[in-house]
Amino acid sequence: MRAQGARTPAMELEAKYMMQTYKRLPVTFVMGEGCHLYDAEGRQYLDFLAGISVLNTGHCHQHVVHAVREQAGQLAQVSNLYYNELAARLAQRLAESFAPGARVFLCNSGTEANEAMIKLARKRRRGGEIVVLEGAFHGRTMGALSATPQPDKQEPFAPLVPGFVVVPRDDPGALDAAVSERTAAVMLEPIQGETGIWPISERMLLAARAACDRSGALLLFDEIQCGMSRTGTLWAFELTPVRPDVLTSAKALASGLPVGAVIAGGEAADVLQPGDHGATFGGGPLVASAALATLDVLDDDRLQARVRVLGDRLRVGLEALREQGRLTDVRGRGLMVGADLPSDTAPDVVSAGLEAGFVLNATGPSTLRFLPPLIAGEHEIDRVLEFLEETL
Ligand code: PLP
Repeated sequence: MRAQGARTPAMELEAKYMMQTYKRLPVTFVMGEGCHLYDAEGRQYLDFLAGISVLNTGHCHQHVVHAVREQAGQLAQVSNLYYNELAARLAQRLAESFAPGARVFLCNSGTEANEAMIKLARKRRRGGEIVVLEGAFHGRTMGALSATPQPDKQEPFAPLVPGFVVVPRDDPGALDAAVSERTAAVMLEPIQGETGIWPISERMLLAARAACDRSGALLLFDEIQCGMSRTGTLWAFELTPVRPDVLTSAKALASGLPVGAVIAGGEAADVLQPGDHGATFGGGPLVASAALATLDVLDDDRLQARVRVLGDRLRVGLEALREQGRLTDVRGRGLMVGADLPSDTAPDVVSAGLEAGFVLNATGPSTLRFLPPLIAGEHEIDRVLEFLEETL
């Protein structure tokens, strides 16, 4: 076991000067390398959260570091009044990964990408409702928050943006009944992340696609957490029988630099026109260089095949703990895995992990979430499983 670290300058300063919007664990990381983080006292931690599905390439991947260093010394930002080849190349890459004729809007975060996607759907069908699923998390700005049906997050900020309709996560009949000619879009995460890793069932996805086709609404996928090869394919929808009309990405897209993207296919590609939307920093050369280098690493068949193999290894290990009664449920795809405990001890497991040198995460009192860097290997998976075996 490790001794609890002393209070660091970060902790003192933050307590005094930062708005207290985050509950933090008592550690200050100062360096990252591959699957490992290091704290101010030089202790090493195995990172099984990857900045919440941001460091899919691992910490400080040399290909990304090199691209960012080069670009930072050449041109960081020009505004969107001028052409920018790196943004255009990034858009090409994302569009081609999605659908012929697709177009991309670049911004700075997940919630901003969802905001743009909501605006796109609303402009296309003026006044239209947006159907969302229970358990969804789409972000914290007013539009994305209005699409996030969680009372504790929404109520302090009412009134919200009107026109969002909530249906249960796995009720195709209710979804079908909620969609009409008044519906602008159905918006969902193919695997819900923040509320404990809930893959949306095929029957629900098929119902969403059919309801959109019947009513002329758009099917919007938020792949901010589950995209970028996290599930073993570049986009999570590739594992399903359903293709969305519009998709959002962020988090892992630039290996830790802030970027978000909306990728729209078909007629949705041309809905947003000059003056409709914008972002000062969106797709600036520096972040675009990081995103292009990140795609070089992550949009790779061999890496994706490894993600599937390692995800199976993690789930098999967790299933063994479930059979022993130490877990009650194991869910997920690829290296996006959630596991429920029989009691409300997930935060204790996370604290014990930190003491023992593991960065783990709990999405709720009894749910653990595993989002390791996608460059992890068998050794890293087995170390975490051994820790859980000893601890649970
Ligand atoms: N959508 C999903 C599925 C997310 O997991 C998140 C963040 O956790 C967001 C949107 C919001 O992204 P950001 O924090 O970059 O605004």
